[in-house]
Amino acid sequence: MHEFSLAVSVVEEAADILKKMGGKKVLALTLDIGILSGVSPEALQFCFPEVILGTCLERCRLHINQIPLLVYCPQCQREEQVEGPFPLCPRCQEVKIEVRKGKEFNITNMEIE
Ligand SMILES: [Zn+2]
Repeated sequence: MHEFSLAVSVVEEAADILKKMGGKKVLALTLDIGILSGVSPEALQFCFPEVILGTCLERCRLHINQIPLLVYCPQCQREEQVEGPFPLCPRCQEVKIEVRKGKEFNITNMEIE
């Protein structure tokens, strides 16, 4: 499963940050996941408890913020939030748009001890 290896890399990254901050364990973790990132928040939540077993993230709570798709349309000259995963302008259906948000996959917050 794709999300399993993603969860492993998130845990490694969080453990790294924890070490740099001089903490002992991670109590809570917040992730931003864009709708275009290709990551399923449900699948990630599902494998997270298994991945954190025996690590400094054991019993850590995982919060996921799903980031909707935000595009800039050069035709309409404005930003538009798009419902659904297809990057096109919801006003004029233009496909040559710029994706401004929706590809995120980052740790945005950590609660440590
Ligand atoms: Zn447009």
